[in-house]
Amino acid sequence: MDESGVIHVDRWSLLSITAMLAFLSPDHEDSPMDMPTLPFANTYARLPPRFYARINPVPVHDPGMIRFNQELAQELGLDAAVLAGAAGALIFGGNQVPEGAEPLAMAYAGHQFGHFNPQLGDGRAILLGEVADREGRRFDVQLKGAGRTPFSRGGDGRAQLGPVLREYVLCEFMHAMGIPTTRALAAVSTGEQVARERLYPGGIITRVSASFVRVGTFQFFAAHGHREALQQLLDYVIARNYPELQAHPRPWLGLLDAVVRRQAALIARWMQTGFIHGVMNTDNMSIAGETIDYGPCAFMDTYQADTVYSSIDREGRYAYRNQPAMAHWNLCRLAEALLPLAVEPEEALEAAQAVINAFPEHYEAAWLAGMCAKLGLEAAEEGDRVLVEDWLGLLETGRADFTLAFRALSKLGTVADPVQDAGLQTCFEKPAGLADWLERWRARLTREVCTEQARRARMQAVNPLYIPRNHRLEQAIRAAEDHDDFGPFQALVTVLAQPFRERPAAAGYERPPAAGEAVLQTFCGT
Ligand code: AMP
Ligand code: MG
Repeated sequence: MDESGVIHVDRWSLLSITAMLAFLSPDHEDSPMDMPTLPFANTYARLPPRFYARINPVPVHDPGMIRFNQELAQELGLDAAVLAGAAGALIFGGNQVPEGAEPLAMAYAGHQFGHFNPQLGDGRAILLGEVADREGRRFDVQLKGAGRTPFSRGGDGRAQLGPVLREYVLCEFMHAMGIPTTRALAAVSTGEQVARERLYPGGIITRVSASFVRVGTFQFFAAHGHREALQQLLDYVIARNYPELQAHPRPWLGLLDAVVRRQAALIARWMQTGFIHGVMNTDNMSIAGETIDYGPCAFMDTYQADTVYSSIDREGRYAYRNQPAMAHWNLCRLAEALLPLAVEPEEALEAAQAVINAFPEHYEAAWLAGMCAKLGLEAAEEGDRVLVEDWLGLLETGRADFTLAFRALSKLGTVADPVQDAGLQTCFEKPAGLADWLERWRARLTREVCTEQARRARMQAVNPLYIPRNHRLEQAIRAAEDHDDFGPFQALVTVLAQPFRERPAAAGYERPPAAGEAVLQTFCGT
């Protein structure tokens, strides 16, 4: 980045990276015949061998189904009744490869905390195949924690149960919020232990995604100088996820622009929900624009823009406030990886730079529109941005709970009411300046056309009451890992499936942590 804030695309940065080893593709073993059939297609397995390593999941000692996502299974046309039971535990525990699957680990590279690693890849994830939903959209089904692969490097290929449950809760909440995300189809316990700082029970999560191709997948082929493979990857991604780009005169540029837009919209949603991903490395950034690779991620309680939860993010690279800039930086790396596909390099560099430079504009527009909706402002006006910024400033100086403050605001009327206004005040440690801001907000609301009731309903439909609070997650994980009690986890998933609807059965889940309950650091558990 230069002083004017422009992040530059550097087409030469990739050229100095040394070529990497090809890897073996062991023969796929035949699967037993007595298992339910999953209607798998395997288009990724049709790509050349350097895209992946064929590898079967490593069976576990005692696979047990913790939770199976019936609703998602039905959407995907899977036999939910059979898969929810023992047969599902065997498949999603990796003990039996379903007929039709061609398991593989995908190859990719990536910038991790700013440093390029030309050889990452699925070290513990195994793609079983693709299924189609009712509308014919294709989804990848992948096991995470299913054993070592040729990309495991020093890792054990396994996942700790806690992070499996965390991912399940968080991604399904994101889905309920309408935020693009990978989904959770199943969480399985392995009956084995994994060694981290100490021994923990192991788990496997089955993830479903529109694509597991990452920015780092393009970087992999660019870094190794495999132009043909890069082209094949581009064609694959466009056919699968961006068919509208098939007629584009410069498909690589069309893809860059489309991913820039999807990521800008995605990060805006994260910011509006108080979500901190924690490991926004380029290998954790989806080409399909989904939230992917839930590790040490968390939702903020008190609004502080410099919040960092991840224990490994020592310099705050991926702090809440930095997320848009880091996405922008990552997309610049995508541009570099796509440039070798350009026919006219000089012109291409300029075109790519222009697409990259437009990220802040896309992001700002999505961010402002979403923030205005959260404040109940429909008809965009000149001063709205300042009103939003001042509100966030108040939340920060007043140490307010991010989620509850927006929700309490959603309940207020256009006319000041001491009792109702007090409900908002209690979300702040220091409510100084709040009354003045409320006066400005109310004055602004008078220029909205809809009824007061409709405005409140609209606000409550975008401002969740229930979010996956860190302390709740921690309690659920402790109960599961230490006491084999999955009750709190199951309850959390159920509550968070409806983040907006206040109901007695969910009472208490909206509460921020009490003194001493707050969880200030999260771990990725790799
Ligand atoms: P992450 O930051 O969790 O997305 O992981 C970065 C890289 O490390 C990816 O290539 C993962 O597949 C790999 N990895 C993480 N945990 C393990 C593990 N326990 N065993 C093998 N590879 C792992
Ligand atoms: Mg990852």
